[in-house]
Amino acid sequence: MKAEIALLKGDGIGPEIVDSTVAVLEKTAQIYGHEFVFKPYLIGGCAIDATGQPLPEETVNGCLASDCVLLGAVGGPKWDGLAGDKRPEKALLGIRAALGLYTNLRPAKLYPALRAASPLKDEIVEGGFDIMIVRELTGGIYFGERGFREGRYGREAFDTEAYSVTEIERIGRVAFNTAMKRSRRVCSVDKANVLETSRLWRQTMHRLAEEFPDVAYTDMFVDNAAMQLVRDPRQFDVIVTSNMFGDILSDEASQITGSIGMLPSASLGDGTRGMYEPIHGSAPDIAGQNKADPIAAVLSGAMMLRYSLGLAEEADRIERAVDDVLNAGFRTADIMGSKQGSPLTCTEMTERILEAL
Ligand code: NAD
Repeated sequence: MKAEIALLKGDGIGPEIVDSTVAVLEKTAQIYGHEFVFKPYLIGGCAIDATGQPLPEETVNGCLASDCVLLGAVGGPKWDGLAGDKRPEKALLGIRAALGLYTNLRPAKLYPALRAASPLKDEIVEGGFDIMIVRELTGGIYFGERGFREGRYGREAFDTEAYSVTEIERIGRVAFNTAMKRSRRVCSVDKANVLETSRLWRQTMHRLAEEFPDVAYTDMFVDNAAMQLVRDPRQFDVIVTSNMFGDILSDEASQITGSIGMLPSASLGDGTRGMYEPIHGSAPDIAGQNKADPIAAVLSGAMMLRYSLGLAEEADRIERAVDDVLNAGFRTADIMGSKQGSPLTCTEMTERILEAL
């Protein structure tokens, strides 16, 4: 097949890890006889430097004209002083909205070979775990009405959360359909004991659960979910939740896997075009030093093949190559744990993955 892939390398370690992913995708294309055409566009701090805008129109149009989008990361201390809507991170909300991406799929998987890198005790993570967090991405408090006003104690700031039945239903459907392809369990996380939006969320999820009798459905309050994730992560399969709760819980879930440098994500809308990115940021502390772990980006590339291009076998092959490399004991610095020896660089890890492919 032929596919056009927009590349948004971004800032910090973004270019290093996207280059690794392109190498892995090119090799995969070569093995299976596909043609991937990569089109680079600017986003984030590098776009501000070049055009004054974190998300230039050319980037949006380029992504809209592509089959799928691969993103590195944006941001860094150089742009931290800019006003909110001028910051590199603003481009992320903008590109998700422009592409109509309302679902964020974040797998949090602990590989048995990396058990030592997890901060949780052995008996809690024995055998590993595999959680899929389905996070609503374009609604809720991050997109609600906000501002400043005079309040009871003087000047105050406010942000509001709103969710419609339509928004809850469409993310719920993604969660139930995802669970049908896994171990058929959905846990919906909310704060229905306090928030009106959560009560509507819960009612809507219950109605939807009736349409999926083969899926075991549970509800959980977000504070309990945060606790259960570290107490017994193996109890979870698919977690579905709102934008803000998903933001927080998915970072917690990533932390208990041992490395933020290992976790991919997919942002999807109604069609097949999606945006794929590692969950980590631009890691300015290690940028340009060839120390970044490319695995999160490489696995994002595998998700892209599976969800946007329908190339499941090719995606499996990349994921198996990563498994093989980890099982063979190769590690970048972030996943060394207590292992002895010197860590691989980003390019060395990429070469090992290419060999395993
Ligand atoms: P971060 O994820 O960039 O880094 C947190 C820590 O994890 C750092 O110590 C970093 O070195 C390490 N780390 C992250 N990715 C790694 C990898 N692939 N390999 C090895 N180590 C890795 O988070 P931060 O420091 O809070 O943010 C840095 C910048 O990134 C900020 O400007 C922030 O706004 C931005 N950010 C961007 C995105 C995105 O583009 N999607 C997401 C989060 C943060």
